[in-house]
Amino acid sequence: MLWNRSVTIGLADTSCDQCMGVGLRPVYKNSPTTCSCVFRAIFRACLNRFRECAAYEGLSGSVSWEYFGSQGRRTSYSRKREEYMADFCLISRRVLEPAEHRLFRFYYLLGADWKLCARRFKTDRSVLFRSLARIERRLGRAFAETVPYSIFPLDEYFGGVARDAGTTPASPVRPRNRARLDPPIRRAA
Ligand SMILES: [Zn+2]
Repeated sequence: MLWNRSVTIGLADTSCDQCMGVGLRPVYKNSPTTCSCVFRAIFRACLNRFRECAAYEGLSGSVSWEYFGSQGRRTSYSRKREEYMADFCLISRRVLEPAEHRLFRFYYLLGADWKLCARRFKTDRSVLFRSLARIERRLGRAFAETVPYSIFPLDEYFGGVARDAGTTPASPVRPRNRARLDPPIRRAA
């Protein structure tokens, strides 16, 4: 995702004192970076959609046609709700450290409150909420920046998006033919 003011201003927290509601904040030598309130907003939007999908547990959605690729517009069957829930969980597991992922699972997926989590992880309230904020920042960024298929924006994920350029899997890195490397030592005459 390309982070610019047009994207971030709709997601930023209007009361954020870091970016003043713009979503971009200046860092070293005035180069702007995306504010953490934007990533947290993305995380909450994805989490809310995950909970909506989970509420349909047992009622599997109907299959839908999905277009993919650009040349020829091929189609495939998909179950969007189930795929979204799987993507949400798999990205979370890949991005977070094991300890963070345990906390994420307890607090966000299993619905434990902060008192229960604080007792379970033997920490106090302030440390726990700092950890939760860090998890939200990391996951919000990952949900938006995963390539080639991110799960945010949600309307593109569920509605499909037409791409001008074809998307191909990353090609493996070929081993280079390296010449023999001799150390620069003067040879005996
Ligand atoms: Zn902000």
